[in-house]
Amino acid sequence: MKTWVARAGLLCLALMLGACASVPLPAPWEDSAPLRYNIAYTHDPSPGLNVEVFLPRKFPREFLFRQPGRVESLTAVDEVGTRFEFFPRNGVMQVPEGTRVVRYHYPLASASREGGRHMFGGMGEGDAWHVAGKAYLLTPSRVTPGLRVDLTVSGTDALLPWTPGDGGVYHLHGEDLIDAGFHSFGGRRCEAHVGASVLEVALLGRFTHLTDAEVCAWLEQAAREVMTVRKAFPYPRVTVRIVPVPGESTPGVFGMVQWSSPPSISILVGQDATAASFAKDWVAIHELLHLTHPTVLPRVAWLTEGLATYYTELARARSGRQTAQHAWQELTKGFARGRAAAGSRTMEEVVAQEGNWQGIYWSGALFALHLDVELRRVTDGRARLEDVLELLATRGSTSSFAHFGNAVDTVAGQPLFDALLARHLPVPAFSELDALLENLGVRIDPGGVTLHAAPGSGLREAMDGERASDDAGRAPGKEKGL
Ligand SMILES: [Zn+2]
Repeated sequence: MKTWVARAGLLCLALMLGACASVPLPAPWEDSAPLRYNIAYTHDPSPGLNVEVFLPRKFPREFLFRQPGRVESLTAVDEVGTRFEFFPRNGVMQVPEGTRVVRYHYPLASASREGGRHMFGGMGEGDAWHVAGKAYLLTPSRVTPGLRVDLTVSGTDALLPWTPGDGGVYHLHGEDLIDAGFHSFGGRRCEAHVGASVLEVALLGRFTHLTDAEVCAWLEQAAREVMTVRKAFPYPRVTVRIVPVPGESTPGVFGMVQWSSPPSISILVGQDATAASFAKDWVAIHELLHLTHPTVLPRVAWLTEGLATYYTELARARSGRQTAQHAWQELTKGFARGRAAAGSRTMEEVVAQEGNWQGIYWSGALFALHLDVELRRVTDGRARLEDVLELLATRGSTSSFAHFGNAVDTVAGQPLFDALLARHLPVPAFSELDALLENLGVRIDPGGVTLHAAPGSGLREAMDGERASDDAGRAPGKEKGL
């Protein structure tokens, strides 16, 4: 017995040594001081960011702006205080040997692009500015997960995707520099609360009719509607930047999620929008619904946009913000736009078309609808598409197309995903639409959509909340009707 233990011990030691020998040595900078960014907001003479990057010793010299454009020259200072000026080429640069500090100025207001307004490069007014982290942060060309980064902001109140630690220092990892999300500097603040979660909101400019409280109430309603899809709001804290668009009265003009960790959201809102117009808005709920699915890597836009687009209509019906009939009307109108954009192309061809957004969003939404129907059908209503999102959420904040399909099959209790894909991808896009709507009892009449009894109308009512299967997310006693 004793011998066996001793032998086992030796064997373990040998395995451990073998394992140690095969593990690559950490990069030289991984154990050293963090890469440090000091960001100072300035409005003198025009709004911008003065950025200092402190390099640990022996740090690799290749750096880049992941979205280059506005920084034309930088200054490096070496260990003995010698200064060098150097210039990026297409955003890429090698800092001089021995560099300890790199300094540069990032102009937030730029006269050169779209009248100076650019969602990534910088947009705002007065002392309230919106910018994407990848536009202004100089980052190492090679970022390892072990890279530690400290970041501070001074000169104004900033809203970054991350939560600062003690003393206002953001302790980040290498990946945070690559997916740096949306940032804002200055502006006013409000908060929206949903369950135990908070949306921290920066308001970056003036509105003619809206109060800040009305903007936050709108986001809070949209966040509550997310909970008609997920059991809990998907993140404890998410940041949202609101930028007014002069001359516009549409509430949600444009919105976007960036896959920082946690994700960061920015929404352009018509400067002349009214609180009443928020009732019909779909942009805020659409962006927040992207939080219900994991980041799919590599990106599969038709899948994630399809999920968000599908639920944008259902969630607003489940909450009572729109009738079920209206939700199906919006879905069918969208499918018609998608079908027109797709022409005779297969879904596979449509989703590969750069910029065919109607085709991509709505063929994805049709697939999401069909997937939901099939999941409910094969499980006799016990499972639904939301269960796939719940399952994926237990598996981390990122996923892949294959893992998504795998989660569908797990929830279905049988292979389902690939077979459904094969019914959609290789054939003309929207081929499945008419039969699916007919089965659900959704009829497109000249005067609009009507809902009627059909083999699948029970499924339809369970999906749109008309006949709540478990009352998830619905306000108690909410009147619903066609
Ligand atoms: Zn989207």
